[in-house]
Amino acid sequence: MAKRAVVCGAGGFIGSHLVQRLMNDGYWVRGVDIKHPEWTASAAHEFIVADLREPGAATAALRGGIDEVYQLAADMGGMGFIHRAETQIMHNSMLINLNVVDAAAKAGIERYFLASSVCVYRDMKLGEAELTEEDAYPAAPDNEYGWEKLYAERAVLSYAREHAFEARIARFQNCYGPEGTWTGGREKAPAALSRKVAESVDGTIEVWGDGSAVRSFVYIDDLIDGVRRLVDSDVSEPTNIGTREYVSVKELVELVAEAAGKNITPVWVPGPVGVQSRNFSNDRIESLGYQPLFDLASGLAETYPWVAQRVASLAD
Ligand code: NAD
Repeated sequence: MAKRAVVCGAGGFIGSHLVQRLMNDGYWVRGVDIKHPEWTASAAHEFIVADLREPGAATAALRGGIDEVYQLAADMGGMGFIHRAETQIMHNSMLINLNVVDAAAKAGIERYFLASSVCVYRDMKLGEAELTEEDAYPAAPDNEYGWEKLYAERAVLSYAREHAFEARIARFQNCYGPEGTWTGGREKAPAALSRKVAESVDGTIEVWGDGSAVRSFVYIDDLIDGVRRLVDSDVSEPTNIGTREYVSVKELVELVAEAAGKNITPVWVPGPVGVQSRNFSNDRIESLGYQPLFDLASGLAETYPWVAQRVASLAD
């Protein structure tokens, strides 16, 4: 019999791609979100529009003999949103996470997946040795989004101990790809820079900071592959999923310009840059056979045209 999965956050970027992958893998899938996916109709067998901040909605979403729950619903966005909407993020995402894990425990599910984030880690100095998953403690996340994720991880682990289900927790690096948020203030750097480059008529774009902050970005297909490997594994500890390719924001701008085939000069302006540096171990996820297939240049070659098309259709 096909396994039955519920994907919370199935109307979002990563959730909608995950639904597609689970369907391809032969699952029966129910998607749940406060909104439908923006770009294509959900592939899920069933799609429920529900506000998971309501405990009753979470209970209803998990009815009917569910084997696996994938919890990706969150009130989230890029660095600008994370810094200006702290209480909104803490309030909404905490309610969602507590309601869904509580409902899952009561429904007697077998496996629970939580989408956490590398924002649980502290800021790093340039050139510092990589952090392993254990280095999330002593905890010093840079922002409230990271603290909320850390608390959500702890909630899942404690419910799993008490209710004897399997917990799988992934700490995602920044994820990008087609169908990700690209405008409106919640978009992340690769999509935001793609939009700015597509919109630029004079060859300049404004970019927050001075270009020296270091980041890594994981392409959506690789991230989903990591999630599936982790959920099917015996690894119950939080696990980073990302790539070993690190770039400065300046280099990221150059790569986006290259994908666009445009000459672009960044104009550095003050803004919420976030941490200075990132460098995380991917040993744990790689021990499960995970190897990202997309480097940043090839991922942007897929992402830039999609964003440029959205920009063009707005201008029509
Ligand atoms: P997204 O915003 O596209 O998806 C989140 C979904 O949650 C949205 O569709 C939203 O409508 C839904 N949601 C919000 N409030 C809800 C509510 N009250 N009830 C029901 N649904 C609600 O974001 P994403 O990029 O797909 O991220 C998915 C998960 O991965 C999130 O938990 C996020 O924190 C985590 N994550 C993402 C990244 C990234 O780079 N995109 C990095 C680290 C962690």
